[in-house]
Amino acid sequence: MRPVLDLAEAATGDAAALRRVLMGPLVALTLSATREIERRASVRGWADALEHAGDRVRPVAMLLAAPGWATEQSAADGFWHLWTTLPGLVRLALDDAGDRRALSSFSQALDRLRERDPAAGLSTYAAMVRSEDFEAEPLISFRDADADRVTLTTLHQAKGMEFDVVFIADAREGVLPDLRSRDSLLGTRHLSPNLSGDDRAYSRFRIQEERRLAYTAMCRARARVVWTCTVGAPDHSGGAPSRFLSLVAGRPLDAAVQGPEEHSTPTTPRDAEAWLRRRIGDATLPAAERLAALGALATDDPWRPRPISAFAGVLAPGPDSGLLGPSPRLSPSQAEAYATCPRRYAFERLLRISDGGSKYADLGALIHSVLEVVERTAVGAGADHGTIEDALAVLSAQFDPAAFDGPPWADSWRARAERILRHLYACWPGKGPAVGFETAVEYELDGVHWVGRVDRAEQREGGIHIIDYKTGTSVPKVDEAAGAVQLGFYVLASGDDVTGAEFWYPGDAPGKRKSVTVRSFKMGRKPEVLAAMLAVQRGVLAEEWPTTPGDHCERCPVRIVCPQWPEGREAYS
Ligand code: SF4
Repeated sequence: MRPVLDLAEAATGDAAALRRVLMGPLVALTLSATREIERRASVRGWADALEHAGDRVRPVAMLLAAPGWATEQSAADGFWHLWTTLPGLVRLALDDAGDRRALSSFSQALDRLRERDPAAGLSTYAAMVRSEDFEAEPLISFRDADADRVTLTTLHQAKGMEFDVVFIADAREGVLPDLRSRDSLLGTRHLSPNLSGDDRAYSRFRIQEERRLAYTAMCRARARVVWTCTVGAPDHSGGAPSRFLSLVAGRPLDAAVQGPEEHSTPTTPRDAEAWLRRRIGDATLPAAERLAALGALATDDPWRPRPISAFAGVLAPGPDSGLLGPSPRLSPSQAEAYATCPRRYAFERLLRISDGGSKYADLGALIHSVLEVVERTAVGAGADHGTIEDALAVLSAQFDPAAFDGPPWADSWRARAERILRHLYACWPGKGPAVGFETAVEYELDGVHWVGRVDRAEQREGGIHIIDYKTGTSVPKVDEAAGAVQLGFYVLASGDDVTGAEFWYPGDAPGKRKSVTVRSFKMGRKPEVLAAMLAVQRGVLAEEWPTTPGDHCERCPVRIVCPQWPEGREAYS
């Protein structure tokens, strides 16, 4: 229910609710991706920011662009609108029986609301839920009697129950006690002759009421009560610890509240991991430090996280060194990344801080894999190349809709893959029998190893011709490709038999062009490629990570820690 109510609140312009939607189960964006949208929204407005935030956010953008489903339609009709337009909502219900029952119960509640008040929309319902705090009721009804499990409930709903251990979470001022100025939906304040109409007297009454509520909650425990309080949360909702904490502890607040034990230098792997997790969750820290903590946790070996001070651009200004391992290996794709922006290269390739992979890259990897299987099989059977029928069969076997966000998005990605393969096989640009697929190649340059993989090698003109498949739509100019470092590296690394190298672009206007776009390397430009590789190699070995601002910054996932931009400068202050 929570994502639906958040969406309804977001439709009324509530930015915090929209943030919860973006980071919640319906969209599941990372914190940095959400920050990027917010940054763009602050300059160009929400409509523009959401429109440009990618496929995952597009359904939400469309819903917020026409919010009548939340503000004008009845709550039940608004919910039905969401159900039929948001694939993520259906997926939530399909994936989890608990969510399915909660959504079913929720829709019944909305039906009852429509009978009572047909004009009340989802946004009205969300406001009622927020003020009355009755959303946990369906959760309680799903609780198995005597089950050994955690029960999530509100303080009100816990009345009459007993548990071995009770956690009273997030005991902050404003939450417990909750002294928001409000009246009950039932208007009991005005109905009861015992309640004062005087606001100050009513406030005192409310505090007593909240205190009784806290006492009741504590008495639910047979063995132990644990109070927790968050003063810095990822959604910036931190606040002062509840006044009840000192009452419960019988000591002043400072003495009653114990922060998590902090080691200046974690002494065990568990200490280190807990320390990093706390930093990620502490909204009072600069974004760069939290991102760096995330990067450290995401390393391949979580039991040996690097100290925060080892990360470039974090904490105090200083040398950006210590990022390279003892014997670095380079590749043409690394060279391309370094040439575009050394700073971004350091963040993404060495510190592994990024938003994660893109669906375009996943599609490219899938098509490469399909082509490898089809072409190996075809050449093994004596043919020069495979057929579209074989390729579509292998695509069917390898395509995993879940990896492409399920239908309808996955259908669209699959159709795209099919278009690319159909175009490739309808206008096959090969000119000889294949002699190698996905062949690993290596080249040593001044003691540094460069590595890569050749997609396809053909026998042509008495030698070997190298082919690299490109599934994107962006085709370089003829002159750029003629001096491409990637093709030049393959030529250098594949020996003296190589007579040429080229890129194939089957993703360039498939179905419209009568041939597959091909871009060839000019063999006379090998010295130029060597010079470019040496320049990258020297820059990387010297750990030079300057920024190179340009159009590419617009979609750079590490911009929030880039010193070139205001949002990243806090990392260097
Ligand atoms: S924002 Fe631009 S300059 Fe900064 S790291 Fe990213 S690509 Fe480089």
